Amino acid sequence: MNTVIKKIDASRMASSDFKEAADFLRSGKLVAFPTETVYGLGGNAYDSTASARIYAAKGRPSDNPLIVHISSFIEIDPLVSGIPDEARALADRFWPGPLTMILNKSDRIPKETTGGLDTVAIRMPSHPIANRLIKEAGIPIAAPSANASGRPSTTKAEHVIEDLNGKIDMIIDGGSSDIGLESTIVDLTVKPALILRPGYITIEMLREVLPDIEYDKAVLKRMRDDSIVAKAPGMKYRHYAPKGELTIFEGDIGAVFRAIVREAESRLKAGHSVGILTSDELAGNYKAIEHADAKDLSGDSRDKAIQEKSKLYIRDIGSRNNEAEIAAGLFDALRYFDEAGAEYIYAEAFNEGGLGQAIMNRLMKAAGYNIIKVN
Ligand code: AMP
Ligand code: MG
Repeated sequence: MNTVIKKIDASRMASSDFKEAADFLRSGKLVAFPTETVYGLGGNAYDSTASARIYAAKGRPSDNPLIVHISSFIEIDPLVSGIPDEARALADRFWPGPLTMILNKSDRIPKETTGGLDTVAIRMPSHPIANRLIKEAGIPIAAPSANASGRPSTTKAEHVIEDLNGKIDMIIDGGSSDIGLESTIVDLTVKPALILRPGYITIEMLREVLPDIEYDKAVLKRMRDDSIVAKAPGMKYRHYAPKGELTIFEGDIGAVFRAIVREAESRLKAGHSVGILTSDELAGNYKAIEHADAKDLSGDSRDKAIQEKSKLYIRDIGSRNNEAEIAAGLFDALRYFDEAGAEYIYAEAFNEGGLGQAIMNRLMKAAGYNIIKVN
């Protein structure tokens, strides 16, 4: 299949920029588009064939429901069987934005879109291109993250091209996603409401509107424990995983650094390639890991030899004090390690308050809960 790649500049876009994409969506075709969280792979939410095509393009299990995207609050009416007060209150406060609400679905939404469930996930994205695309299409857009199932979510059009070129009808390139992590998912069909997936909208922010909201148990788990079943069907699958073996080191920052150096050195010595996911605070220190074969060289030639021979890939995703920056760089870094061919990846753990909860949730899932405590 030919995939049309269409660049759109959000600061000067016109209706005509969306004509082909909107036509595609109305006729059951698939269009990937940027949102403020990650890129989405969109299809007509009313069309069971379009939903089936989304699952096929991603290689996604068909019991993993899609999020339905709307561009203004009234568009929620035909999708649900009732709108609880909590939904109105959350929408007032957080929509448009990175919050998804689970509500009881209407008959208009086919089961293919909701993975067989009687509930539907709904979000109103704030990204101007996403909002305009939904408006121009005039239909609700079912859109999971625009990645091949199991791989890290996509935060740039280039990532989408890597995973889905030739499998979908169009990719709209609108630059990088600001937030970089998927939306917070809140289940409003239960009382108290539950957070099924942490995201940019934190539990503290949600409690200002719904004081008794809690995390679903599966969100807080820190190990592979199959007795805790995730309520968001998608959260049970291995996700976001890079191709190399990812290990997270957690504990005192100095101890984390020493443990990562030790592991990295021993893997490099054995001829393996190694990725290190780090932060501004420690990134420079890892440069000290050198290759034994460059030991006898000096000056420029030494630096060059190290660079050429190095199988060490260091990725600094920002300051530990700037969680938004860490979140925005996480998936891109995991994809970078794949491209570099890193066989072993060592990651520093991040603090779990606020947005850190979502960062660590994605990182732990990417690592298959492979976390080592050090101190
Ligand atoms: P993604 O589109 O890749 O961000 O994945 C969508 C997420 O929303 C998955 O984790 C789904 O399991 C979850 N989700 C979608 N619809 C529902 C629903 N009706 N009930 C619970 N979780 C849902
Ligand atoms: Mg996804």
